Amino acid sequence: MSKSFDVVVIGGGPGGYIAAIRAAQLGFNVACVDEWKNDKGGPAPGGTCTNVGCIPSKALLQSSEHFEHANKHFAEHGITASDVKIDVAKMVGRKDAVVKQNNDGILYLFKKNKVSFFHGRGAFVKAADGGYEIKVTGAADETLVGKHIVLATGSNARALPGVAFDEETVLSNDGALRIGATPKKLALIGSGVIGLEMGSVWRRLGADVTILEGLPTFLGAVDEQIAKEAKKAFDKQGLKIELGVKVGEVKTSKKGVSIAYTNAKGEAQTLDADKLIVSIGRVPNTIGLNAEAVGLALDERGAIVVDGDCKTNLPNVWAVGDVVRGPMLAHKAEEEGVAVAERIAGQHGHVNFNTIPWVIYTSPEIAWVGRTEQQLKADGVAYKAGTFPFLANGRARALGDTTGMVKFLADAKTDEILGVHIVGPMASELISEAVVAMEFRASAEDIARICHAHPSLSEATKEAALAVDKRTLNF
Ligand SMILES: Cc1cc2nc3c(=O)[nH]c(=O)nc-3n(C[C@H](O)[C@H](O)[C@H](O)COP(=O)(O)OP(=O)(O)OC[C@H]3O[C@@H](n4cnc5c(N)ncnc54)[C@H](O)[C@@H]3O)c2cc1C
Repeated sequence: MSKSFDVVVIGGGPGGYIAAIRAAQLGFNVACVDEWKNDKGGPAPGGTCTNVGCIPSKALLQSSEHFEHANKHFAEHGITASDVKIDVAKMVGRKDAVVKQNNDGILYLFKKNKVSFFHGRGAFVKAADGGYEIKVTGAADETLVGKHIVLATGSNARALPGVAFDEETVLSNDGALRIGATPKKLALIGSGVIGLEMGSVWRRLGADVTILEGLPTFLGAVDEQIAKEAKKAFDKQGLKIELGVKVGEVKTSKKGVSIAYTNAKGEAQTLDADKLIVSIGRVPNTIGLNAEAVGLALDERGAIVVDGDCKTNLPNVWAVGDVVRGPMLAHKAEEEGVAVAERIAGQHGHVNFNTIPWVIYTSPEIAWVGRTEQQLKADGVAYKAGTFPFLANGRARALGDTTGMVKFLADAKTDEILGVHIVGPMASELISEAVVAMEFRASAEDIARICHAHPSLSEATKEAALAVDKRTLNF
């Protein structure tokens, strides 16, 4: 017999589980269906983000940063740490424990908010009376009927044409987070967020890391000045990044992997490595959803077509997160999940795409919100720019981490903040001030007039805002 719900959410990643919880808080009878399995075959809600994305990558970045600090930076503080070793199995075990805490946390929240969780794959059967019939295939097969359906089925790693992931030698993000011992030589294809974060982890642990990037520009979406500063820092760390390459044949053998490519000068090259991480983007995932059964519209990339309110072409069917247009970021998925739940309740949920922050959790961290200087130029917007280096910030000096800067871009006439770009320590945390400011359509002067704690990295933010009008407090 089928079970009826006001809302059935398919996918328990940050888009789906947040939509389910918010809908339940708004008084709906909600089911969430997610098929992710842990090592024991049990449920592991949280999607890519929790299981093989945001959370585990940040756990490994933290562990590897501690290792690098102990090896290279403790001595500056007068601390002797000799014979520092890394137990990779233990590090990966800690990461797995962090992931499990998050999986369990979501199951607890489902219980607390009375969301019915179904472990298995959800697929459309047909439009049913007053909703849609969804078949769940999993531990126990079920048939659900939902008045509203929220699709949050996420994305999968994009493979190189003709080179399948074996997760032993050719790794997606999944295998990259489960490497059991530091490889001597590690190759990556793609110097985007995931490539830089994974490359940083294994470089810090002693691997000789080379990243091959097809585009001629490093981090093309990032403000040019900030990207340049970041590249300088990565070069200094020994993270080798080759731009403008064309990857040819990739051969795997028992010894590892051999990648043929032409470099930016057009010269034929070969890169041999123990392992290869392919991080060339992600593809929206609608595998197994049986979208055809109900005529759900997909675009040419395979993403579910939605309007600005996350409505699909079908009445009462919504879609959020990586499976729809827009940046593939967990917090974007979450915001859409909340907005959809509120719209189902007749409220006016809203996502402001202009104030979605971006973060790359390397060292230095890179974070930004709003438009870059090159975008403002291309859009013909008259702007003012102000920068402030962490080298001149007292807290950064005390931390011993003075790489980078804060950059403000403000409208030339109104002084409204149009973009804030940070490369440096704790950029991931500092960017929130800029997000709040932009949500309230603040001016650079607003930030310059707000009292910031001393000594703090946020004083560099204030100084960059002051620098927009060529002022400084740092004498
Ligand atoms: C290595 C890595 C690091 C990242 N780091 C960050 C970061 O630091 N910050 C950030 O914002 N973003 C980060 N991301 C991106 C982030 O993980 C995604 O944007 C986010 O997970 C998208 O959420 P989602 O809910 O749309 O989809 P997902 O998290 O992919 O969740 C989709 C869920 O749906 C399930 N599912 C799919 N189809 C079905 C079906 N038919 N039936 C049942 N269940 C189904 C899947 O098993 C999965 O559990 C990272 C990604 C990677 C790969």
